[in-house]
Amino acid sequence: MAVTPPLRTVDTGAGFRHPLYQVMLETPGLTVGTAVLDDLLSWGLTKAMWIFPMATSCCGIEFMATAASRVDIDRMGVIVRATPRQADVMVVAGTITTKMAPRVLKLWEQMPEPKWCIAMGSCAISGDFYRNLYSVVPGIDTFLPVDVYVPGCPPNPEALMHGMMRLQEKIQRQRKGENVVPELNPDLLKITQPSVPRLNEATRSPTQTLEQERASENPTVDEETDPLVVPTSEPVPGLAPLAGADFQALLKELGVAELPTDGPPVIPAAQHLELARRLKGLGYRQLVTIAASHWPAGKGRKGADPAEVEHHEIAYALRTVGAGSRLAIWAVKVPVADPVLTLAGVFAGADWQEREQFDLVGVRFAGHPDLRRIMQTENATTHPLRREFPADAHLAPWR
Ligand code: SF4
Repeated sequence: MAVTPPLRTVDTGAGFRHPLYQVMLETPGLTVGTAVLDDLLSWGLTKAMWIFPMATSCCGIEFMATAASRVDIDRMGVIVRATPRQADVMVVAGTITTKMAPRVLKLWEQMPEPKWCIAMGSCAISGDFYRNLYSVVPGIDTFLPVDVYVPGCPPNPEALMHGMMRLQEKIQRQRKGENVVPELNPDLLKITQPSVPRLNEATRSPTQTLEQERASENPTVDEETDPLVVPTSEPVPGLAPLAGADFQALLKELGVAELPTDGPPVIPAAQHLELARRLKGLGYRQLVTIAASHWPAGKGRKGADPAEVEHHEIAYALRTVGAGSRLAIWAVKVPVADPVLTLAGVFAGADWQEREQFDLVGVRFAGHPDLRRIMQTENATTHPLRREFPADAHLAPWR
């Protein structure tokens, strides 16, 4: 199959050797008029660069400060526009994940030409200390043509301003016909070599670029998950209603005589939904967290135990609201193949927290109304917080 040339390439300046441009240069007198006009256009171009902000994390705060009174980037003619359609420069300030990357690329492609890109901060440049994490893109130049890198963690507003000035300089030199090639530090490139070759690397395959473009065309396709419909509205029989009893008394009733010292008490899976309901009735109205962990066979909370089967342990925390707030924490332990009853019918906030634990750990929540992935890309097939998952796993075409 014929491979279409990639749309996104690093500008080598070759376009400025156009034959028409050469004729203009060589016609006596013509350059006098065009040079003045060209200088005026270049001046206008570099003094009216509108930024599309792609600020995702802490660097975004420094980016915002650049517009404040101390630096006041407005005085360079820079206006921040929250739309790609009227912007000239995309400033990527912060960590970009594999789930964001197709959206960022789509926004980049909605910006009209000519356009430029600034990578602000070490996360945008190389992924920084998250670069080996399953979810992080190891540098935005693996899918965007970056013109200026502004290093730092975070770079301060003055550094971003300096980056804008370097970009102005680069544009002016390019408009004068100079071939401005990207500055490369080969030793640094070796150290920060990502699993996906950067756009300006010789080993980069056009297929990689095409795959990224295709992935950005429709990144919102949801995967199919089997709906596990288990009736959850009926209380578990066998428990008398409680009035005025506190959490520990409730635990005793559930057969937890002693509170363990190495973690939350483990509640039988069949009673955990009823426990949540009763606690809510006792004033524990806020769901603080749901956090699951995966334990391989022979391992458990207390360390190595040959009798332990592969299991999930899901911890829940509720608190009472108002002064003198109290916490209720418990855990449920189930073999990996078994689902756990959802709390989505008792606490609305359980909905997305359970989706997160399903996505990252692989716990199935029976009766959940919409058990879809929430953190990872829609086409992910793995659960990265399981013990066997390699920390630096690749996820094509982004990392
Ligand atoms: S480079 Fe540093 S400050 Fe910027 S987003 Fe990354 S961690 Fe935050």
